[in-house]
Amino acid sequence: MYLREFDPWKSELCTCPSKYSLNPYTGCSHGCVYCYASSYIKNFFKCRTKPGLIEKLKREIKRIHQDSLISLSNTSDPYPPMEANLGITRQCLEIFGKHYMRVLIITKSSLVCRDRDILKNIKSAVTITVTTLKFADKLEPFAPPPLERFKSLEELSKAGIPTGLRLDPIIPLLNEEEIESILKMAKDCGIGHVTFSSFKPRLDSWQRLKRVFPDLSRKIEPMYFKEGTKKSNAWYLKDEVRKSIILSARQICDSLSLTFSSCREGFYELNSASSCDGSHLI
Ligand code: SF4
Repeated sequence: MYLREFDPWKSELCTCPSKYSLNPYTGCSHGCVYCYASSYIKNFFKCRTKPGLIEKLKREIKRIHQDSLISLSNTSDPYPPMEANLGITRQCLEIFGKHYMRVLIITKSSLVCRDRDILKNIKSAVTITVTTLKFADKLEPFAPPPLERFKSLEELSKAGIPTGLRLDPIIPLLNEEEIESILKMAKDCGIGHVTFSSFKPRLDSWQRLKRVFPDLSRKIEPMYFKEGTKKSNAWYLKDEVRKSIILSARQICDSLSLTFSSCREGFYELNSASSCDGSHLI
C-alpha cells in the first residue's frame, strides 16, 4: 500500500489527527542535516520514484472515505527537483481532487506553486518549512533557499490557498535566535498557523550535525546526552529548556494572531490550534 494510515509508531507524543500519508517519492535530495527519516530509510538522500505509484493510487483511493485527510509528505518532500519533469505529485493531487479528499502538503520547495491551479480548487492547505535564514546553505544544503520559500507562501496565500509555517526544528544555540524574525516574515506572507518543534537528534542526524557544525555540537552535546532524555530513538532537551523555547514561540505567535502548535513535544497546554499539523486550515 502506498496510501497508508499515518501512525508514527503509535507514539504518545504524536497528536496528529487521523489521516492518511502518501510519500510520492522514496528518499529526499534536500540533504537536511537534521533529517529524521534518514535513520530508518536506506539511501535516504538518493531520491527515487515508486514503481507503479499512480496506477496503484487510483485503486487504493477507492478504499478510503471521501473527505479523508491525506498528508503528503510525512517522510520525504513531495516536490524534489525531479518532480518538475515527472509531475508525479501533480498527478496524485488530481486523483485526490477527483475523490474529494482533503490534502495537506508539507514541503520546502517552491515547485508547489506550480500546482496552485489544482490546490485552489480542492480542499487543501500548504505548510512550508523554514528553519533559518542564516545557516540554510549548511543545514539544508540542497533545498530551495528560504527566501524562495517565503515567496511561495506569499504566492499561495494570495491565490487563496490556506498556508502555514513549519518552524521545525529549532536547534539550541543555532537558529533559536531567528525564531521571531522567521515568524514575522511568515506572517507577512499571509500564513495562518505555525507548527513548531525542537531538534531531537537520532544517531545519524547527530553525526551529521557534528560533522557540519563541530563547535556547536560540542556545546550542545551535554544538553542532550547528559541533561536531556531519550524517548524512542531520539534525544530530547530537558523539559524545562524545551518548554521555555516553545513558550516564547507561542507568545510571539499570539502577538501575531497566528495559531500555534508544537510537534511531538508533549506540552499540549501550549497549543492554541485545533490541529498540530495545520490541517484545521483546510
Ligand atoms: S526536506 Fe525533510 S525529508 Fe527531505 S532531507 Fe530535509 S528533513 Fe529530510
